[in-house]
Amino acid sequence: MSSGFSIHVTKENLKFSAAHFIAYPGFREPLHGHNYQVGIRLEGDLAATGYVLDFGIVKRVAKEIVNRLDERTLIPADSDCLKIEQRGDSVAIRYDRDEFVLPSSDVCLLPIVHSSTEELARFLWHRLTEELQTLSALAGVTAIEVSVAEGPGQAAIYRQEICAIAT
Ligand code: ZN
Repeated sequence: MSSGFSIHVTKENLKFSAAHFIAYPGFREPLHGHNYQVGIRLEGDLAATGYVLDFGIVKRVAKEIVNRLDERTLIPADSDCLKIEQRGDSVAIRYDRDEFVLPSSDVCLLPIVHSSTEELARFLWHRLTEELQTLSALAGVTAIEVSVAEGPGQAAIYRQEICAIAT
């Protein structure tokens, strides 16, 4: 935190509703849902414009990413205990002898091991950072923090500093 500035956004529209279950060897939650709330904090240097960055871009990109998870079942594609198989237009997810078969369009396969708020926060951090880098929107940003809450009052936070980005 070189300059001490940070900006936060926890907007009503950075919410998504999704179904999931936590699974690891020997344990599986029943399928259930949450109304997730995402928050973003960026740390950085003040640009000549008087801003750390154009926050409109961050809000737009974050909303697009969050919308892709909305009203989906979140499945961790890198799970160490789920067998995931495409069957035509469906996805079959097997845990031990239990099997879910869902339409592919209802499922969001994510590159995570568990669909915990911690891993969702880290996934969203990477997606957001990648897309903002593609848009060259991170000049002056030194760190990004993404929080994900499954409900009011308890959030997992993933924070990482941004390496120097060639612009
Ligand atoms: Zn849950």
